[in-house]
Amino acid sequence: MAERTLSGKTALVTGSTSGIGLGIAKCLAKQGANIVLNGFGDYQAPKAEVEALGVQVRYHGADMSKASEIQAMMQFASEAFGGVDILVNNAGIQHVAAVENFPVERWDAIIAINLSSAFHTSRLALPYMQQKNWGRILNVASVHGLVGSAQKSAYVAAKHGIVGLTKVTALENATSGITCNAICPGWVLTPLVQKQVDAKAHELSLSNEEATKLLLGEKEPSMQFTTPEELGELAVFLCSTAANNVRGVAWNMDGGWTAQ
Ligand code: NAD
Repeated sequence: MAERTLSGKTALVTGSTSGIGLGIAKCLAKQGANIVLNGFGDYQAPKAEVEALGVQVRYHGADMSKASEIQAMMQFASEAFGGVDILVNNAGIQHVAAVENFPVERWDAIIAINLSSAFHTSRLALPYMQQKNWGRILNVASVHGLVGSAQKSAYVAAKHGIVGLTKVTALENATSGITCNAICPGWVLTPLVQKQVDAKAHELSLSNEEATKLLLGEKEPSMQFTTPEELGELAVFLCSTAANNVRGVAWNMDGGWTAQ
């Protein structure tokens, strides 16, 4: 078996019971990193999937909208593994509505989960990384960290915000072995996006296949979804020594979405 490049490291991935977070957790585990999973819903099946890759796995169910629960999760990771070497801020939610109709409670939840949680995990993870002079912070932003789309004010604001947080975190640690970068996917077929396909199918009386084509055709020239596994491999690269001097970038994997 080829050498596992992340053996001895611990990765905490927020929102990793599903979708992109689980895909990233599995790719980091394949490289030997122990994993702290987080997220809602069933965690036993994802935990077993990651454990099957031959690493230690723990789960903490902290709600990423609550600073006190995030603090408890970071403490739990430290007690389990000594500290977090690789932090992947991935948890996120979406809500679609025009600004004037946007429910205030949804705005607050999106800013808390998609943006503020990354500030809290980062501020709590950095002292350990600084002590070891090695660390990786990966913020899962989106193409919506770089461009806007109608009806997504809170999401686009949070994602632009996390790209900004990425740059500042990278700069503050630029002379150290700690890097911070953002990953910016286009469409990835996860439960978060399937809901948007379903809404389109319902609104326009289309089949799932027709609604999917329409969704991709509006934004993504490749007409293909990016997969969680492809994003996981990008995360592995950003954790590698080859990426030692990749600092503060927002790296698209978007089928040409933002090249237009
Ligand atoms: P998903 O719905 O499949 O997974 C989201 C994860 O976050 C789940 O594990 C869920 O339990 C968790 N989560 C939600 N609210 C939480 C909370 N309050 N506390 C803790 N965990 C919580 O979605 P996904 O598509 O995999 O999205 C993951 C990230 O990727 C998000 O930040 C999203 O904005 C981003 N993203 C997704 C796409 C896409 O096309 N799917 C594109 C660009 C960016």
